[in-house]
Amino acid sequence: MADCLFCKIIAGDIPSSKVYEDDYVYAFRDIAPQAPVHILVVPKEHIASVGEITAENSAVAARIFEVIPKIAGAEGLTGGYRVVSNCGADAGQTVGHLHFHILGGKKLSLEMA
Ligand code: AMP
Ligand code: ZN
Repeated sequence: MADCLFCKIIAGDIPSSKVYEDDYVYAFRDIAPQAPVHILVVPKEHIASVGEITAENSAVAARIFEVIPKIAGAEGLTGGYRVVSNCGADAGQTVGHLHFHILGGKKLSLEMA
C-alpha cells in the first residue's frame, strides 16, 4: 500500500532494525522501545488491523503466531513476554498496518509495557 509506513519498511524504502523475515512475515525493533525488548511483527501483506482479519487472510495471522515464539526464544525471553495488538483509535493504534508488539526483558507492569 503506497502510503503505509510499515509497507515502506517491508519494502526496504524506510530503514529498520530487522530481526526476522520470511515470505509472509517481517519483524523489526520498535523505534521507541517501551521495554528492553520491543519488537513489531507484521504481515508482508497489507492488512489494516486485527479488525480486518478474515477467513481469506487469516493464514498469515497464524504464521505470525508461529514466528512470535521463535523470536522470543532468539531474544532470550525465557522469563516471559507480552504480545499486544492495538486495533483502532480507541486502542491507540497509530500505524494502520497490522502489527503485534512483543514486549519483554523486564517484569512488565499491567500497563502495555
Ligand atoms: P501502535 O501505536 O500500536 O500502532 O504501534 C505503532 C508502533 O510503531 C509504535 O510503538 C511506534 O514506536 C512504532 N514505530 C513507528 N515508526 C516506526 C519506525 N519507523 N520503525 C520502527 N517502529 C516504528
Ligand atoms: Zn501496509
